[in-house]
Amino acid sequence: MVIDVCEQLKERIGSTRHYSFGRSGNSQDEADFPLQGEISLTRTERGILVTGVLNTRVEAMCSRCLGTFHQPLTLKIEEELLPTVDSSTGAPLSWPEEEGAFIINDKQEFDLGEAVRQYALLALPMKPLCREDCAGLCPTCGHNLNLGPCSCAAPIDPRLAPLKKLVTGEGKDG
Ligand SMILES: [Zn+2]
Ligand SMILES: [Zn+2]
Repeated sequence: MVIDVCEQLKERIGSTRHYSFGRSGNSQDEADFPLQGEISLTRTERGILVTGVLNTRVEAMCSRCLGTFHQPLTLKIEEELLPTVDSSTGAPLSWPEEEGAFIINDKQEFDLGEAVRQYALLALPMKPLCREDCAGLCPTCGHNLNLGPCSCAAPIDPRLAPLKKLVTGEGKDG
């Protein structure tokens, strides 16, 4: 998913182009890496400012049941792309103070797919859940409880055992 910004780099500062995804688009790309939304590219003094909101989904592992699922993500993109070569002279440019910034490669293209991947990594929750009420795995036998109960007795957290005694009146002195 590469955007050619060669022409836009020759335009005046402030010129804007809009790209939308997810309506028509390349179906093969979508199957592999679904994207829906809109971005704007604005010519800046140094390069091109990308802004917009994109919805995508990535394969993630549920932190409770360890199953893989598709995590939907909304990415708010705001990034200045810096060219690696001068668009009129072809001379290489470097931006030492901008390490890690998104770049426009020497063919004056910007890899949106890579940018989305980087944003998706940051947007991914620390503990992804395949669904809000994921039942997780049985701590005794490892059975995926989303598929139904296992034959183990309902486990009691040892920290809660004294509480249970209180409730049931066991172990009371006097
Ligand atoms: Zn799960
Ligand atoms: Zn079990």
